[in-house]
Amino acid sequence: MKLVLRNGEIKEVDTKHIFNNQYNTTDGHRVYDSEVQYIIDDIRLGEFYCSSVKQGTYEEVAKAIAEERAKINKCNECWWFHKRTLVKDGCSTERTREGNRETVIEKRVYDISCSYTPRYQVKCVHDIDETPKLFREVLDCFFCKYPQGIPDMRPLKQFMIDNAEKYGIVPYWGDGKLEMGHRLTHNKLFGSYKFETGPCSDYFDLSNTRNSFSFYIDVANKRFILIDSMGYEVVDKLTQHRCEYDYNTKQHKSYDEPIKNYDKFATWLWQIVDDFNAQKEEN
Ligand SMILES: [Zn+2]
Repeated sequence: MKLVLRNGEIKEVDTKHIFNNQYNTTDGHRVYDSEVQYIIDDIRLGEFYCSSVKQGTYEEVAKAIAEERAKINKCNECWWFHKRTLVKDGCSTERTREGNRETVIEKRVYDISCSYTPRYQVKCVHDIDETPKLFREVLDCFFCKYPQGIPDMRPLKQFMIDNAEKYGIVPYWGDGKLEMGHRLTHNKLFGSYKFETGPCSDYFDLSNTRNSFSFYIDVANKRFILIDSMGYEVVDKLTQHRCEYDYNTKQHKSYDEPIKNYDKFATWLWQIVDDFNAQKEEN
């Protein structure tokens, strides 16, 4: 498994520990998705995985799960069992009859169980998934969903340049040129948001003084592939996180809502993408 980085470097992955958004490399570094262009021989694609065990073929993981299960004396080895056990006591009565004589033995019984499950409404920490699942089904992994890697935005930028007048595309700098090697923008703002694309058009930006989005565009599905410091997140809309205090219920509530003037921006952008896709089909 090799990483092709955005700077062109190629790194070999140390596959001992596999994550969904970062990699240990055999030369002892940690690389995040945000630095990766695409992945060669991504073992996560076809490999099975269990959260407590390892990745491998279905048979390998199933065998590893069986071995792990055999080792665990659930829940006696569990911290929650020893420190936070639930003790329920009750009575059990046993009756035996011999002729006219009945013997009744009453026993007090204690039922001790791990408190992890009732406390967290999930399985005990020592539970192991019985069925191996594909890595990409267990973890939300960008490169499992997009094995081709991050899309090349240059054809779309070129399309914007070729149809600059129609879409209001202008050079970012007054004395700049409308060409691939230059920074481009839209001749108006979307509310307070400014659209721009960099000189090499690696990705697009939409920002105002408070928010900034850097993204690739999945032109086939009309989705944004947002870049943050760790990696990529695929979203349908550009949203902003909000948190409000409700004085009536005395509770905080938080939610995501589209950024201001999102519709204005989206209408403009998806028109370009639609036209771009239609033109691709013609050729
Ligand atoms: Zn337990």
